[in-house]
Amino acid sequence: MIYDMVIIGGGIKGLCTLYHSLRLGCRSVALVEQFQIGHQKGSSHGQSRITRSSYVSPVYVRLMHRVHNEEWPRLEADTGVRLLHPTPGCIWGPAGGQIQKYAKSVLQAGISVEHIDVRTARRRFPMFHFTNDDLVLDDTTCALIDAQTTIKSLARICVEKGADLLENETVVELNLKRDPIQVRTNRGVLMTNRLAITAGPWSSQLLPELFRRLSVTNQCVGYFELVGEPNQFQVGQFPVWIYLGLGKNNTFYGLPQFGHEGIKIARHVTTGQTANLDSGTRSSDLAILDLRQFLNRYFQHSIQRFCQAEYCLYTNTETEDYLIDFYPEKSNVVVGAGFSGHGFKLAPLTGKIIAELLICQKTTVPEFEAKSSREIFKWVR
Ligand SMILES: Cc1cc2nc3c(=O)[nH]c(=O)nc-3n(C[C@H](O)[C@H](O)[C@H](O)COP(=O)(O)OP(=O)(O)OC[C@H]3O[C@@H](n4cnc5c(N)ncnc54)[C@H](O)[C@@H]3O)c2cc1C
Repeated sequence: MIYDMVIIGGGIKGLCTLYHSLRLGCRSVALVEQFQIGHQKGSSHGQSRITRSSYVSPVYVRLMHRVHNEEWPRLEADTGVRLLHPTPGCIWGPAGGQIQKYAKSVLQAGISVEHIDVRTARRRFPMFHFTNDDLVLDDTTCALIDAQTTIKSLARICVEKGADLLENETVVELNLKRDPIQVRTNRGVLMTNRLAITAGPWSSQLLPELFRRLSVTNQCVGYFELVGEPNQFQVGQFPVWIYLGLGKNNTFYGLPQFGHEGIKIARHVTTGQTANLDSGTRSSDLAILDLRQFLNRYFQHSIQRFCQAEYCLYTNTETEDYLIDFYPEKSNVVVGAGFSGHGFKLAPLTGKIIAELLICQKTTVPEFEAKSSREIFKWVR
């Protein structure tokens, strides 16, 4: 049998590509996943993710507008499940730092994001300590993504539409020169006319050319119960938030309580020690201490107790821009990688982009087709 399309990787990017390839009329599609869908070893697990419009670059602001208005609503309608839970959104940091670029990109785009002065910020977001020098954005497009339900629902509807989900099957070798393409797994050989490679942290194991382009870092997420009336920490009440500090790796973010005890908080780490994919994704108690220190300094509520930690991987490019492009000189192979810790919110759109590139050679997404965008996402930069 020759597949219309094979997708390597069953994280959010691969599943969204699968979903769109079926929507676009591919009949025989297989997704190969080395573990089980929903496993805890890659980048897409955990209960929740942030979505927002505020971004450092106008390209992403425009893509976010599209995904919020078209793709998340489509996915919710097709799955019959609520996936986005609106909640307030606060993004802040010392004026003159990264936050300045965020403000410029998003305010120019006329999106529903407001630059508020510190006095207003203290009133609207009384849970945070702001300094008089902070620049604060109130992003009313923010929501908490029910990440686990998104993954499960995507897998469910794709199977219902006839896709083959090949779980616990590892791709060990690619022969891209053959027509049809040959994908060798630990169980046999799959033949396909088109191939999407969305292998997350394992991308450069499959495509060693990417070793220099991609780095993989560990992330440690902490869940903390704070002192105060429990209701105020729930989604809809408590904001999703991002603190953009000065310098590299000095961004922290967090989400309301959702599906876990405690609010979620993490440091966004895109450089530094490379994660070892074979030794799991554990990091040290120091990371939890770091999160405690952040909470003590920037939150008005004190910590009641530490609930638990979660570990996850980022696959980063140097600029933190995604890589979405054809494999060199192959119009039937597309790579989606390097989502640099911010890929979940855009996945329903990037899945469409990857599927359309493979099926139609170009996309119906003007925000992606613009020259400035294609430059950002291309294979060779
Ligand atoms: C702690 C944390 C918090 C985050 N918060 C946010 C957020 O708030 N908002 C946001 O937008 N984004 C967020 N992100 C980023 C987002 O979750 C990732 O960008 C996204 O999950 C990447 O998905 P992926 O499908 O590329 O990778 P993965 O989920 O890792 O999927 C790749 C899959 O490919 C499979 N695979 C690899 N090699 C092979 C092979 N040879 N054979 C078969 N299968 C293979 C792997 O097993 C894996 O399942 C966060 C990430 C982390 C880690």
